[in-house]
Amino acid sequence: MKRLKFFHSLRFRLFLLFLLMGIMPGMALHAGILASYEKKAVSNQSIDILGQAKILGSQLASYDYIKDPSEEVINAQLDLISNVYDGRVMIMNKGFQIVKDTYGLDTGKTIISEEVVKSFGGEEISKYDSKNRYIELSVPVKDQEQNTLGVLLVSVSTDSIMSNYDYLKDRMLAIEIVSAIVVVAAAVFLARLLVHPLGKLTTSLAEIQAKEGEGGEGVLMVSDYTETEAISNAFNEMLGKMRVVDRSRQEFVANVSHELKTPLTSMKVLADSLLGQEDVPVELYKDFMGDIAEEIERENKIINDLLSLVKMDKSAGDLNISSVNVNELLEMLLKRLRPIAEKQNVELVLESFRPVSAEIDEVKLSLALNNLVENAIKYNKKGGWVHVSLNADHKYFYVRVEDSGIGIPQEDLEHIYERFFRVDKSHSKEIKGTGLGLAITRNAILMHRGAIKAHSKEGEGTTFTVRIPLTYTV
Ligand code: ADP
Repeated sequence: MKRLKFFHSLRFRLFLLFLLMGIMPGMALHAGILASYEKKAVSNQSIDILGQAKILGSQLASYDYIKDPSEEVINAQLDLISNVYDGRVMIMNKGFQIVKDTYGLDTGKTIISEEVVKSFGGEEISKYDSKNRYIELSVPVKDQEQNTLGVLLVSVSTDSIMSNYDYLKDRMLAIEIVSAIVVVAAAVFLARLLVHPLGKLTTSLAEIQAKEGEGGEGVLMVSDYTETEAISNAFNEMLGKMRVVDRSRQEFVANVSHELKTPLTSMKVLADSLLGQEDVPVELYKDFMGDIAEEIERENKIINDLLSLVKMDKSAGDLNISSVNVNELLEMLLKRLRPIAEKQNVELVLESFRPVSAEIDEVKLSLALNNLVENAIKYNKKGGWVHVSLNADHKYFYVRVEDSGIGIPQEDLEHIYERFFRVDKSHSKEIKGTGLGLAITRNAILMHRGAIKAHSKEGEGTTFTVRIPLTYTV
């Protein structure tokens, strides 16, 4: 398995690439040079012999050798040629009969071959038989009137060419073996060198992982290549985001435990103080029990809010989209909140600029808008007002919730959507809440691909503006 993995590694592939790049040209050169050497040497020798054969042919004609093959001068020359070229010369008369064979084997015999016939027709023919390693030439012997008197057949061995060829081949092979060894070594080295930064990346990642395990924070930086640098940067960015998520999750869990514990602690204190006293009057019991019921109510509210928040944290796919009349939705919402507003002596007004129908998740968006209006009533002054208005253009609808309440300090404005965040614990004590309402509102709005903005002036009031697309797109 491990071996198989090695074949899939970049290092192995680079090695193969370098190896091929290093060895292939050498091999191609080798084959090319040898082939062209053989071709060139054979053609040189053919031209050379053809020249000799032509000279010999004209001498044969002038000595009329074909009729009388005993001429000493020519015989001496024929021997010389066959010795120098390590070959055989045969001369044929018009009757296809061999009048001279330097090997002395076939004198007097008749040869009718294609080449000989063609040469009687005046052609000069040269043929290379690479398998048996010889060059064969057939040249017509002509007199001065260009009459063909006979044919000269020369066959010479190419052994000398081939021995040079073999020598060249051996030398090249030796050079190739040496260069192959060098190429393999260089390929191994280069592949290692090029892959090294990736190895560094892996080690650094392992180090960071170990560091994170111990609670530390590491930074990845392998800047050997622009690519590894880009990977490092992307990784650091992702790690940073994950750290933030992790931290906020830890914070959230800590907050949840704390918030859930607070009412329980109060209840325990109340119960303990009742249990610790003897003959407690019924009124005190009632009083304390009322407090305990209130704490239970608070605990219940926190749990309900947390459940809503968890629901809103899920993906947008969980939205239950339908076409909703937003004017009616707001009217219903305000109708439900009116009793609370009246109790606080807060005037609640709805202003609809036009009929609006939009594709939304009715339940989730009502919860979001409900939180805004409820806050506007809760964090208001006696005799104050809350104005809710609805407007739309061709793409979005806008809901504005304006109040004449206590306002939010500028430095707290950016935190109000955080889970469990409450402005100034002292007034928050009097006004009950979990600090989860706006987090729920914001999540619901973002799920609808909308936006929420808040403007506030301490002591004067707050305005929340919500913008939601009329049509929902995934
Ligand atoms: P809570 O349950 O405390 O109302 P929210 O998340 O709804 O939690 O609001 C967070 C905090 O923002 C509140 O505790 C309050 O201090 C502040 N806040 C929200 N809405 C208003 C408003 N209309 N006017 C003044 N303060 C507000």
